[in-house]
This record gives sequence, C-alpha cells and structure tokens, in this order.
Amino acid sequence: MAYLRKPDWLRMELGERKFFSNVNRVLDRYSLNTICNEADCPNKGECFNKGTATFLIMGKNCTRNCRFCKVTKILSPEELNPMEPLNIANAIKEMKLKHTVITSVTRDDIPDGGAEHFVNTILEIKKLCPDVVIEVLIPDFSGDHKALSKVVNAAPDIISHNVETVPSLYSTVRPMSLFERSVKLLGRVKKINSNIFTKSGFMVGLGEKEEEIVDLLCVLRNVDCDIVTIGQYLQPSIKHYNVKEYVHPLQFQKYAEIARNLGFKYVASGPLIRSSYHAEDGFNYLKSG
Ligand code: SF4
Ligand code: SF4
Repeated sequence: MAYLRKPDWLRMELGERKFFSNVNRVLDRYSLNTICNEADCPNKGECFNKGTATFLIMGKNCTRNCRFCKVTKILSPEELNPMEPLNIANAIKEMKLKHTVITSVTRDDIPDGGAEHFVNTILEIKKLCPDVVIEVLIPDFSGDHKALSKVVNAAPDIISHNVETVPSLYSTVRPMSLFERSVKLLGRVKKINSNIFTKSGFMVGLGEKEEEIVDLLCVLRNVDCDIVTIGQYLQPSIKHYNVKEYVHPLQFQKYAEIARNLGFKYVASGPLIRSSYHAEDGFNYLKSG
C-alpha cells in the first residue's frame, strides 16, 4: 500500500519540554487524561506550552471503533471515577485557565452514556471557577434525548459535537456512529437552549469530495450550528485508516470562505486545526460580535 509523503506545511517542532512538564505535573497530580496525549495531537507542543490542554473524561478507553482514531477501543472500559469532576475543576483552577474544553470517550456501556458525569463536571467547574468559559465536546449519547437534555440544562457555554467526516464515509471510518444522529444532536441543543453556542468539526483527507464538504456544511448550518472547524486527517499509526490526500492550505481557505458565506458565525479551517485548537478564539469572537 502506498503512503503519501507529509507535505512541508505539516512538519512542525515540538515545544519546549519545560512547559510541557508543568501541564503534565497538574495532570499527574489529579490523575487526569487529555485527548492531546491519547490522540497524539500534533499541536501538543504549542498548547501545553501555552499552559492549556483538553481534558478527556470517563477514562481513556472507548467503546466505539472509529478507524481514524488513536484512542484505545474496548467493550468494557473502566468504572467512572466519581472524583474526576472535582479533580478537573481543581486542575483548571491550578492551571489558571480562562476557557476549558472537556471531552470524553464514548461510553455505550453506561446507561446514560456518561451524561451525568458531564453534568457533575460542569457543575464542579462552575462552583470552583465561576468565570471559566466551559466548552464540552460531547459524544452522541446513542441518540438518548434525556441524556443530552441533562447536559444542555447544566448550561455550559459551548456544546460541541464533531461529525468528523462526510456521511458517505461513515460506514468505512466510523462504523458504530450515525451521521444523521450526530446532526440531530446539534439541532436539539439549540431547541432546548438557543443561548448555548453549538460547534462541530470534521477532518478532510479521508477520501471525501469537495461537493460532499459543501453539502456537509449546508447540513450543519440547517441545524443552526454556530462554529465549524476543519482540519487535516493525520494517520496515527500504520494500523489506522490511510490518509487519502494532504489537502492544500489554499483549499482550506476555500472551505472557510464557503462556510462563512453559508452563515457560520466562526470558522477555523487549516491543516492543523483541531476542534479544541485555540478554542477560546471562537468564543471570544462570538461574544464580541
Ligand atoms: Fe490538545 Fe486540542 Fe491543543 Fe490538540 S489542539 S493539543 S487536542 S488542546
Ligand atoms: Fe475515537 Fe471518539 Fe470514535 Fe471513540 S467515538 S473511537 S474517542 S473518535
């Protein structure tokens, strides 16, 4: 099988180790996971050096099997840690974060998919760090409307849910998820509380066509999604799905322009964009507008 050579625009240096270790010390102290580490994010140097990270709650093992994702997959992951919500809040306080992103693995083995755990985390953060902007990047809770409502009613500032790719590739790269279910979730958030900003993200370079990206953007706008992020898929290991294309930065600009013209309030599109990359920029922009 032929592998594509990484283009120059995707080569980057790791940041200074000294700051890395400051973030790692807090994560170790509170036994916390990050998606930055678990997914081996290419921006880790920059983000950790800025003193930020995206917390990964409910363990580091996922019950789904997306072929692009480095997170470990098992059917029966570990028990939830009831101290985790407080530990997250303590870490946020210690790291002096102004904006925090909390995400999770998908826990199809738990009756509410972990919605209550998200709620507890949001509430602990609000108690300990009332001024912090809370962004939650949630799983689909298997389409459970009640579970989603619990999280929306806890009133985080942003609810994000990534569609990850175009619908035609779901059966190949995301076989345990449903595109329509994810889109519905984003629409439901707005119906329950239209004051919460919604956000979604997806990758390119998995073999999708430009027309499919445009259609996907239209679908997201139809459910009033406020923020969209578009980034390059990077293959985490040879066991994972192959990169089909390294999309040129100019093409990312084109997608950004299309998205803005469709009415997204904030768009981040570029090879190294990830849902949580500079997440505060999107919120600050929306608030200032
Ligand atoms: Fe972590 Fe997000 Fe930064 Fe990647 S972009 S290192 S996932 S905070
Ligand atoms: Fe990775 Fe999320 Fe898919 Fe789980 S559901 S394998 S964490 S992308």
